[in-house]
Amino acid sequence: MRWKQGRRSTNVEDRRGRGVSRGVAIGGGGLGLLVVVVIALLLGVDPTQLLTDVSSTQVDSSQSSAPPPPGQDEASDFVSVVLADTEDTWKPLFRDMGKTYVEPKLVLFTGEVRSACGLADAAVGPFYCPGDQKVYLDMSFYADLKNRFKAPGDFAQAYIIGHEVGHHVQTLLGISGDLHQEKAGKSKAMQNEISVRQELQADCFAGVWAHHASRVRNLLEAGDIEEGLGAATAIGDDRLQMQARGYVTPDSFTHGTSAQRVKWFKIGLETGEVKACDTYSGGI
Ligand SMILES: [Zn+2]
Repeated sequence: MRWKQGRRSTNVEDRRGRGVSRGVAIGGGGLGLLVVVVIALLLGVDPTQLLTDVSSTQVDSSQSSAPPPPGQDEASDFVSVVLADTEDTWKPLFRDMGKTYVEPKLVLFTGEVRSACGLADAAVGPFYCPGDQKVYLDMSFYADLKNRFKAPGDFAQAYIIGHEVGHHVQTLLGISGDLHQEKAGKSKAMQNEISVRQELQADCFAGVWAHHASRVRNLLEAGDIEEGLGAATAIGDDRLQMQARGYVTPDSFTHGTSAQRVKWFKIGLETGEVKACDTYSGGI
């Protein structure tokens, strides 16, 4: 990607290396301290060891109220440019629909993170939380993408951001809320099917972003699309399930197969249009 010249977003929150406040979760203050000591003694651990961790994470959490500006290193700089490009894509598209695009925040974290959707650790992968309208991205996922899922390349990384921002678009358009209601009372298989359609639409929206990044701002270079398709293929449910346990169970798919993800990413990429991303009415 030709990203170095791109605009930087002001919506990146860098919480890497900060941890989350465990002291507060335990009860805070003197009671928290007592609980830690008791737990430590029960576990047969030296209490001062745990207390060091608690006090250091408490200091960390107080620091997190004033995050440093993004662009401290190349990784966060890259994320900031991709996020800015999604903003530049979706703002005019929303304007065309007579709506206003509210820019999401993107939180970079390591280890685990507290969001309006609860406490999450890096194992869940990148995610979007509708409750606080933030995208959460653990940089270790990018290493996984390259090493474990064999999908290297900067555009593979950008595609993930495009997909999560796609969930934000679904939230702003009211789609996510509607689907949430539709799922109520349905069987697990039906709920999964709705989830798959929602995920495929986010892939399609990532394609819409890639279309505009490429046509309007010339951000993409040769090989980028293949990197994005590689990522879409690598993180399809069928591929992930096959890697994890050697067989696939379609009813439990919540993101779609590799072929479906590639198909919908391409539809968004080729058309650049929101309305082309209707994954709900027909076959997928
Ligand atoms: Zn998703």
